[in-house]
Amino acid sequence: MRAQPPASHFIDGAYVEDASGEAFACLYPATGEVIAQLHAATPGLIERAVASAARAQQEWAALAPVERGRVLRRAARLMRLRNRALSELETLDTGKPLQETLVADAASGADALEFFGGIAPTINGEAIPLGRDFAYTRRVPLGVCAGIGAWNYPTQIACWKAAPALACGNAMVFKPSENTPLGALKLAEILIEAGAPAGLFNVVQGMGAVGAALAGHERVAKVSLTGSVPTGRKVYAAAAEGMRHVTMELGGKSPLIVFEDADLEDAIGGAMLGNFYSTGQVCSNGTRVFVQRAVRDAFLERLVARTEAIRIGDPMDENVQMGPLISAQQRRKVLEYVKHGKAEGARCLTGGGVPKVQGFEGGFWVEPTVFAGVRDEMTIARDEIFGPVMAVLDFDDEDEVIARANGSEFGLAGGVFTRDLARAHRVADRLRAGIVWINGYNLTPVEIPFGGTKMSGVGRENSRAAIEHYTEVKTVHVGLGPVESPY
Ligand code: NAD
Repeated sequence: MRAQPPASHFIDGAYVEDASGEAFACLYPATGEVIAQLHAATPGLIERAVASAARAQQEWAALAPVERGRVLRRAARLMRLRNRALSELETLDTGKPLQETLVADAASGADALEFFGGIAPTINGEAIPLGRDFAYTRRVPLGVCAGIGAWNYPTQIACWKAAPALACGNAMVFKPSENTPLGALKLAEILIEAGAPAGLFNVVQGMGAVGAALAGHERVAKVSLTGSVPTGRKVYAAAAEGMRHVTMELGGKSPLIVFEDADLEDAIGGAMLGNFYSTGQVCSNGTRVFVQRAVRDAFLERLVARTEAIRIGDPMDENVQMGPLISAQQRRKVLEYVKHGKAEGARCLTGGGVPKVQGFEGGFWVEPTVFAGVRDEMTIARDEIFGPVMAVLDFDDEDEVIARANGSEFGLAGGVFTRDLARAHRVADRLRAGIVWINGYNLTPVEIPFGGTKMSGVGRENSRAAIEHYTEVKTVHVGLGPVESPY
């Protein structure tokens, strides 16, 4: 087994196994081979994880914020030092090419740890003068937070949740996706090495049932989920039972709008990044590419040429640009959408099939695919596919394209390519989305808020905005005079 961890779970500072939990395998998506065997957490282990987190949280919250920050920044440094090993593991866990994981996963996780480690000592309240009296507020931690991850960015998701949670004085119990159980365990090891108390960040493995047990646990104060809309509905409802706080990072079907005055090579590059990176398994992808009619043919011609030049193959080869999908099930789903696209009359300009990758015949490959002539009502223009399938739609004018772009239940992201600055800002203002990129796509540095509107989610990750989602305000009113009581 190429990536077998010492045990399935990491609880109270150590690896823990309980073989009575349901067994499941972790596959290398490029070959389909089993690289680790794990067990889902039993109810007993979930209790241990939550109890140790509750204990550690008390100790952790009592530290000076600058000391908490120092631990997180040390963890960031360790992640960077080990970037190559962590990236190779991430590639085994996800199938994403090393070319991506070397720059986008542990590196982004380290940024989050460094950023939130840096601002931990600045999380202040305010003093409110009231004439004779005054009040002050404090931002207090929520307690034990549950993190539940998706499979596309296992290390990044764990860090994007743990870093702000811990910076604010919380503890976390994290459940990775059952498809990608490995990355979060490394974060747990690194945090201990960096000086975090045992129990502060625990990892429990398992399927949806383990996530559900955390989301409904009476000692859990907050649930942060990255996942699909159907799961989001369930987790939000379970959290509501106990009035728990939530952050919901869910799916999308985001529009990317290319006006005729855009730099076409840049726009094509943006559209490819926003559809093919991580084999299209990115929640904020701009999967509805609206191209103004006058430049449509030129756009498509270059897009197809550049798409057909994408190097697919051994994810461990740093020259390779695209890996497989996460699982056989996901590939079935994506190929089903390709079928719908063709049946509903869209033109498949390239891709749509399963490539032959020599030596990797058992992998979950699918070709990067471009559909043109897509109409708004087609299935491939409405559903989140979560694979490398780009839908190109034509448009004529700005008002029309804004209305169509907003005509989706989702509202995660959007993009606009134009050289007209006024138009760029006007469009950014009118798109109903949590984040809009002008002349770029899918850039998510830790300094800026990230999250969705409408069905795409609730709350924001990264930036100072995340602090609001991992603390609550406590108000203290201070009376400085006699009590004026009518009784
Ligand atoms: P998923 O919804 O199937 O699973 C997400 C996680 O929730 C997994 O860990 C799963 O085990 C767990 N889960 C499933 N049922 C649960 C339940 N009833 N209670 C608690 N937990 C439960 O999603 P996925 O297929 O792993 O990931 C793909 C989805 O995630 C896509 O829709 C994608 O857009 C979304 N996503 C969103 C973001 C974002 O930041 N907005 C980022 C990445 C992925």
